[in-house]
Amino acid sequence: MTMEHGEDCCVKVAVHARPLIGDEKLQGCKDCVTVVPGKPQVQIGTHSFTFDHVYGSSGTPSTAMFDECVAPLVEGLFQGYNATVLAYGQTGSGKTYTMGTACKEGTHVGIIPRAMAALFDKIEKLKNQVDFQLRVSFIEILKEEVRDLLDPATVAAGKVENGNGHAGKLSVPGKPPVQIREGSNGVITLSGSTEVHVTTQKEMTTCLEQGSLSRATGSTNMNNQSSRSHAIFTITLEQMRKADPIMASDGMPIEEMNDDYLCAKLHLVDLAGSERAKRTGSDGLRFKEGVHINRGLLALGNVISALGDEKKRKEGAHVPYRDSKLTRLLQDSLGGNSKTVMIACISPADINAEETLNTLKYANRARNIQNKPIVNRNPIADEMKRMRQQLEYLQAELVLARGGGVGSDDVQGLRERISWLEHTNEDLCRELYGLRNHVHSDPCEPELHKTVSGYTKGEGLKRSLQSTEPFDVLMTDSVREGNPKDIDDEVAKEWEHTMLQDSLGKELNELNKQLEKKESEMKGYGHDTVALKQHFGKKLMELEEEKRAVQKERDRLLAEVESLNADGQTHKVRDAQLQKLKTFEAQILELKKKQESQVQLLKEKQKSDEAAKKLQEEIHFIKSQKVQLQHKIKQEAEQFRQWKASREKELLQLRKEGRRNEYERHKLQALTQRQKLGSSKED
Ligand code: ADP
Ligand code: MG
Repeated sequence: MTMEHGEDCCVKVAVHARPLIGDEKLQGCKDCVTVVPGKPQVQIGTHSFTFDHVYGSSGTPSTAMFDECVAPLVEGLFQGYNATVLAYGQTGSGKTYTMGTACKEGTHVGIIPRAMAALFDKIEKLKNQVDFQLRVSFIEILKEEVRDLLDPATVAAGKVENGNGHAGKLSVPGKPPVQIREGSNGVITLSGSTEVHVTTQKEMTTCLEQGSLSRATGSTNMNNQSSRSHAIFTITLEQMRKADPIMASDGMPIEEMNDDYLCAKLHLVDLAGSERAKRTGSDGLRFKEGVHINRGLLALGNVISALGDEKKRKEGAHVPYRDSKLTRLLQDSLGGNSKTVMIACISPADINAEETLNTLKYANRARNIQNKPIVNRNPIADEMKRMRQQLEYLQAELVLARGGGVGSDDVQGLRERISWLEHTNEDLCRELYGLRNHVHSDPCEPELHKTVSGYTKGEGLKRSLQSTEPFDVLMTDSVREGNPKDIDDEVAKEWEHTMLQDSLGKELNELNKQLEKKESEMKGYGHDTVALKQHFGKKLMELEEEKRAVQKERDRLLAEVESLNADGQTHKVRDAQLQKLKTFEAQILELKKKQESQVQLLKEKQKSDEAAKKLQEEIHFIKSQKVQLQHKIKQEAEQFRQWKASREKELLQLRKEGRRNEYERHKLQALTQRQKLGSSKED
């Protein structure tokens, strides 16, 4: 899972003081707990404690507890934060009442049922934008054994036996016990416990009820329904954002979920009674259970001490999570990745004063624990993020491949035009050669006529020639009669134009080739450089974290070895520890090497980034040159066209003049004839 640091936050501690209950009143107990009005402060005897909240016994009304302590945690689930609510206190202090673990319809609504309601309310609001998956598990730790309260076999057995009026029995033969596992990422999971997929609040409530039925209960002196086990009801909320951007029904975007996938767990823990074993007043089996209960709570106390002591925490002191199943399971909730609330339940009765004081002291220490809740994503979300980045990059590359904003159609059109112009140039060139030869060496009329008529490709020229056809004779005459110097000029001009177009075309070809080469080179750098950089950066950070973790573990071992030395323990144990130490040293070295190689890779990446940038600039330069050249070719062709047109006009003028001349000649001839006739008449 990817982890992102959220704000540091302490474990919040609230006190829930219940009123005196029937038995206590009957025994004539007195209320020995005072709540300072308007302050979250509890006084018992000469002791005074301040908490985050105090509920009941004239503190804040208990009804505010859910909104102030638990509702924010339920909200946090939707942002990917794990959460834990712990109920602590002696048997009969109201833990089960507070949590609502033994949920019965029509009775007081505890934290668990209210959390469910809040959860489903929110899901209902978001279900159009987000896909939700809910799972629940319900386990119990009794005598250091984890029991699955939702195991279908247990549930069935519990039902049947309950039907017979007996309490649900314990283990189901043949079923492997539930194991606590720690993944490579440090996440604690239970293997072998049932996770029930639920879609409605009703289904979730059924799970809670069935689990509660299976829960082992027995009687002690203190409470005939007292629980000697820790019960953990866990809700897992998975969220997958739907394809479209998240919008609320009013059209406003919902900001709560910025990720595609989030997963968070809410642990609701009803701890076993915190009273000391001697107070259970029982011996034999029951007493043994008492000792076992204390093992979990003792370990919890030690964990709280280790985490709550700022000095110890700064020194990186060992936290004994592994001393009990309970603390292992709650590892993430205490000093780890969870927002945690502890509710210390107390009885106000004077006969419980000693236990109440113990509870308040215990709870007070828990306030110093700093948690570091982080958003839980999963690798799928990371992969999706990466793929989205790649998609963006590919889209950008596609635009680039199309010629930096010029559409591929444009490029194709330009290419066709260029090749057409090149062909035209070639033909013109050939034509001019022919013309020049005829004009200079053998200006023979019929052949010149044939050559010019045979011309097909120079469109402008062809048109002008067609228009002259009725004046064929005149035209050839006028050409022949034209000033030889003019003809020379014309041929020279056309020749110059052809050569220029030819060389410009070649230049353009050259540029195109260069551009192609550079662009294919550029493809060699075809990676999302930003994504790659981020990837390397992240890798480095991960390695650093891993290194630190290994170093920490090594230091811890070192300390252990030292203490073993001091204790004069057997060589065997010490050697084994030393061996472990060596492997850690080797691991650290390995990690350092990895880190260095990553740094090297990062450097190389930077270099290649620079090269790619340079190449990109070159491509840009070539493109601008190309545009200039194309412009030049067009301009030159246009100039030539204009010159040609004016030349044709001149020719036309000449032809007209030729006809007039002929007409004049005829006229003159006629006149002369007439004059001749006239003079003969006179004769
Ligand atoms: P625990 O789980 O700590 O052993 P319970 O929740 O079973 O204690 O509570 C013991 C008794 O006290 C129950 O009968 C319960 O109904 C009663 N009780 C606990 N808390 C309250 C409260 N806040 N208001 C009224 N009754 C309560
Ligand atoms: Mg209880």
